[in-house]
Amino acid sequence: MGIKENLKDIKNKINAAEKRAGRKTDSVKLVAVSKYHTVDDVYKAIEAGQFLFGENRVQEAGKKFLEIKEKYKNVELHLLGVLQSNKVKNAVKIADCIESVDRIEILEEIEKQCAKIDKKIKVFFELHTGEDSKSGYKTEDLLLESIKACADGRFPHVIPCGLMTMAPFTNDEKLIRDSFRALQNLSKKIDKKYPQFDMKELSMGMSGDYEIAVEEGATIVRIGTAIFGERVYSKNEKA
Ligand SMILES: *Cc1c(COP(=O)(O)O)cnc(C)c1O
Repeated sequence: MGIKENLKDIKNKINAAEKRAGRKTDSVKLVAVSKYHTVDDVYKAIEAGQFLFGENRVQEAGKKFLEIKEKYKNVELHLLGVLQSNKVKNAVKIADCIESVDRIEILEEIEKQCAKIDKKIKVFFELHTGEDSKSGYKTEDLLLESIKACADGRFPHVIPCGLMTMAPFTNDEKLIRDSFRALQNLSKKIDKKYPQFDMKELSMGMSGDYEIAVEEGATIVRIGTAIFGERVYSKNEKA
């Protein structure tokens, strides 16, 4: 199947999961994760009506999406990968949203770089909920500290939009659901404590587990392989 057919198939499955969970049709947004895939593949997705994309690495994102965003003004890019401080300057230039905020120091750098170019940027706070992934805040308390800093007005160029997580890579559906539920619970806590923020977005679910994520309340799923096929890494790289 091609990219267009894959997108259609995924949307049908998302709609079915929405229905099972008693949720409104099209309440879930799809981020097409194009890392390691070509600009041509991205254009194929755009032709099929997909305008929201995700990339992991700042350099790759810049190389591909400067051109793409020049051509298509309504393309939106989310950054999903662990962000190093020295990459933030370029990250805030190319991205509309950073989903992988995982420490207060990175918020400080995002604020500094956004202030320089007078841009406000959407962010998600990533919670570590799956044993295998190394990314995200290690505890809820650390994550909450960062949100408190936002509430204290320390990062005026940062717009907190929600939470992100990666479930463990396992066939054990219960573990996957536990991970998504942990994010949902934290989201409710934050909503109560910080009503001034509109932090309702829950970014969870990838190619292998997005239907479960939709059942558990995801508002955004991030899907790469099921749209574009397997990624090919060179020898000295990994995901
Ligand atoms: C690569 C990646 C995805 C997409 O993964 P697939 O399994 O290919 O769908 C989603 N989220 C994050 C954070 C990623 O790094």
